[in-house]
Amino acid sequence: MAWFKKEKTAITKRVKIPEGLWVKCDNCKEIVYRKEVEKNLKVCPKCNYHFRISAKERILLLADEGSFKEIGENLMSVDPLNFKDQVTYKERLKESLKKSNISEAVITGEAVMGGYPVMLIVFDFAFMGGSMGSVVGEKFTIAAEKALDEELPLISITSSGGARMQEGILSLMQMAKTSAAIARFNRSTLPYISILSDPTFGGVTASIAMLGDIIIAEPKSLIGFAGPRVIEQTIKQQLPEDFQRAEFLLQHGMIDMVINRRELKQTIVKLLSLIDGNSKVKSEKL
Ligand SMILES: [Zn+2]
Repeated sequence: MAWFKKEKTAITKRVKIPEGLWVKCDNCKEIVYRKEVEKNLKVCPKCNYHFRISAKERILLLADEGSFKEIGENLMSVDPLNFKDQVTYKERLKESLKKSNISEAVITGEAVMGGYPVMLIVFDFAFMGGSMGSVVGEKFTIAAEKALDEELPLISITSSGGARMQEGILSLMQMAKTSAAIARFNRSTLPYISILSDPTFGGVTASIAMLGDIIIAEPKSLIGFAGPRVIEQTIKQQLPEDFQRAEFLLQHGMIDMVINRRELKQTIVKLLSLIDGNSKVKSEKL
């Protein structure tokens, strides 16, 4: 009994850490000071793991100050299949809206980057895992069509688990719809730059993400179609440790660059200026 008592005292004496002051890195498992991570653009100071950031934070990082003008913000998902798993799809949509404070898993709009007008498409993992349903597909397509009309480079930043199961076949059709929009966009000489952030998976990888003229990924991002467990079970082989990480994909020619978040904007602007030099980008600067 004495042994139990001693144990109990030890537990109650444990120093309490104020909630939210520290954060555990998903990659290196180190406990790091939240403020330090935030100052570092949400990149782990110990291992350079890039934490997920919201679409709004991403826009702040990429767009010139005050230049972002949202389009399609009134489009909201409906529930055509009256879908229900443990909870109804309608309920999940409501929960996501409350949690993420945005109305869908993607924010689209015109912006200026380093003086270049562009069209931005930014996914937010906090809204139903950044999944692509009918509204995400429609917003992407509207943005691509508008970019083509106005001769703007198209820049997408993905963070998504893939298709939105709750919309069944309608969500899978968005792969064809967005790919067709990119094919139409590609008839012009305008660039489509695709940036992959952690994680980019499933139907989003199989459409929007991998169709970029230039494909950039953030360090250590997980990028793939199916998850590693499903692949291991299917091919009955053990996968290499860094499988589906951005660096592995770069080594195997799947993507063009791995760029730190801190250098992401200047890299995109540099690319736009190089393409502009070849008169591919509208040269109108603010
Ligand atoms: Zn870390």
